[in-house]
Amino acid sequence: MSPHSRYAEFYRRSIEAPEDFWAEQAKLIDWHAQPTRILDDAKPPFVNWFVGGKTNLCHNAVDRHLPTRGDSPALIHVSTETGTERTYTFSQLHEEVQRTAASLLALGVGKGDRVLIYMPMIPQAAFAMLACARIGAIHCVVFGGFASGALASRIEDAAPKVVVSADAGSRGGKVVAYKPLLDEAIRVSSHKPEAVLLSDRGLAPMELVAGRDHLDSEVAARLSSADVPCEWLDATDISYTIYTSGTTGRPKGVQRDTGGYAVALAASMKHIFDGRAGETYFSTSDIGWVVGHSYIVYGPLIAGMATLMYEGLPTQGMNREPDGGIWWRLVEKYKVTVMFSAPTAVRVLKKQDPALLKKYDLSSLRALFLAGEPLDEPTARWISDGLGVPIIDNYWQTESGWPIITLANAVERKPSKFGSPGVPMYGFKVKILDESTGEELTAPNEKGVVVIEGPTPPGFMQTVWKDDARFVNTYWKSVPGRMVYSTFDWGIRDEDGYFYILGRTDDVINVAGHRLGTREIEECISGHAGVAEVAVVGVADALKGQVAMAFAVPKDSQALSDPARALTLEGEVMQRVNDELGAVARPARVRFVSALPKTRSGKLLRRAIQAVCEQRDPGDLTTMDDPASLQQIRQVVQG
Ligand code: AMP
Repeated sequence: MSPHSRYAEFYRRSIEAPEDFWAEQAKLIDWHAQPTRILDDAKPPFVNWFVGGKTNLCHNAVDRHLPTRGDSPALIHVSTETGTERTYTFSQLHEEVQRTAASLLALGVGKGDRVLIYMPMIPQAAFAMLACARIGAIHCVVFGGFASGALASRIEDAAPKVVVSADAGSRGGKVVAYKPLLDEAIRVSSHKPEAVLLSDRGLAPMELVAGRDHLDSEVAARLSSADVPCEWLDATDISYTIYTSGTTGRPKGVQRDTGGYAVALAASMKHIFDGRAGETYFSTSDIGWVVGHSYIVYGPLIAGMATLMYEGLPTQGMNREPDGGIWWRLVEKYKVTVMFSAPTAVRVLKKQDPALLKKYDLSSLRALFLAGEPLDEPTARWISDGLGVPIIDNYWQTESGWPIITLANAVERKPSKFGSPGVPMYGFKVKILDESTGEELTAPNEKGVVVIEGPTPPGFMQTVWKDDARFVNTYWKSVPGRMVYSTFDWGIRDEDGYFYILGRTDDVINVAGHRLGTREIEECISGHAGVAEVAVVGVADALKGQVAMAFAVPKDSQALSDPARALTLEGEVMQRVNDELGAVARPARVRFVSALPKTRSGKLLRRAIQAVCEQRDPGDLTTMDDPASLQQIRQVVQG
């Protein structure tokens, strides 16, 4: 990066004068009371942004646009699963959100209470998130693809007063009933929510639990008033938690503030995404992931844009007929200017006829942003040639809330380099360190751990929900002698300052852009009565980036010699993961072996197993206890 470029100057100011820089960015949102102090980092690594300021995310996303664009589109919902398409203007969204807020208040939800949202991609999910923000309740959205076990552990941790859900979701025309999964999750969880608020889409029958379950239409019909003003919250008040995977089986609740998040999103919409009020933003993610929070719901709305929320596959049209052009039809119809997706989704489209990209008028589109997993060059070239607009890779995490590394093209247009998401974003002091010595690696192309030096910028996670110690110990103490935030990603930086991300340093895997912890899958599999021990690793996959592979030691050794027995056990294990965690976590294969490769101290050698699966050199095996076990894995994989 040239030290004299416009972006370099912008970045330098954000690092050297963060208070001035962010005070200026804070003007992008409405404040009920101005902050009295921009940055308080007296107790690192904890950071408080915009102390003394009072604001509200829902006000910034909805109410403040009413005078200028009340009749303009705010939320466009398209479901190719149910063949429905509906646009809500800002005024209509305001009404819907107030109604949901009033319903939550009627069910006893107050400021600081948790509301767990387990919903398919329907407008009611966005209403519920914004309604929580409106009244100061903390929302915890759990991805609708998770099943009862994963849901139960999140209900237990979040201890919600109310759960908001629906009868069912739908994927590829297949109805997935949510209510029985939710009932089972509540049954096994030690925490019981007081109430469940349900949307009935008419997709699956629901049995209501008397006294606990309420249909949203009935609660709304009983309301005496649906006028709910925004609660003015401290900038540092919690807006939401979102669970993400780490190195233990227990999911971490990433906790975010209110004011810092609003400012970070508003700034990113301006400098990175270049999304302008009155235009349409289309993110193909899901509200269950951080991208959905930041760039389906809050970011575009804060910027006064319409956001397109899509339920369906990228390959299926309005009546569920095969249609690889559905996204582009939507871009044309709604004049989408900014689009956000994941490399896996594009790889799915690559199998379609390239002529589909030329069939629609895509002239409104200015850029396509891709994130969540490494973007491979053939995919980037294919979509870039097809669309004729810049393809911008962006690297971030649930923890950061917005891009850590990308190109802020609205500040200064910089060339993209295939394979690199770009350069550190303003506010992020990104460094590459030697994992074992903690020494900073400054020479080009030296591989190390990508870390962030504090203070972390607005929008970054505040802490781990209810567990400050876990936040500090997990993220800030992993590099010897340095208190820096570890991303747990390997990376290098080239001579122009562009970063390249080379994969995780921990046991997190990335399947189709979905972040999964191998430990959570292992814990689920070891719960099967026929399994003595298991290791789950991520293995490279041409379509999904990575898939999970499980290697299990069966209790009954016949499963090792009898293929029919092994197949039955494999089916049962797969079913268990499906039922407990959800199809998204199901391994591609479960293979049976008599022993797992371990060090002499008994640590599972997951990286060696992964290397063997990917036909790479497993590296130094001098500490390995039983080399034959790795040989067995090799044989099983090849066989
Ligand atoms: P999540 O918290 O689900 O967003 O997952 C974050 C992880 O996904 C990161 O730590 C990376 O391992 C990976 N990731 C996200 N974006 C990118 C990207 N643009 N390039 C490479 N890896 C990425």
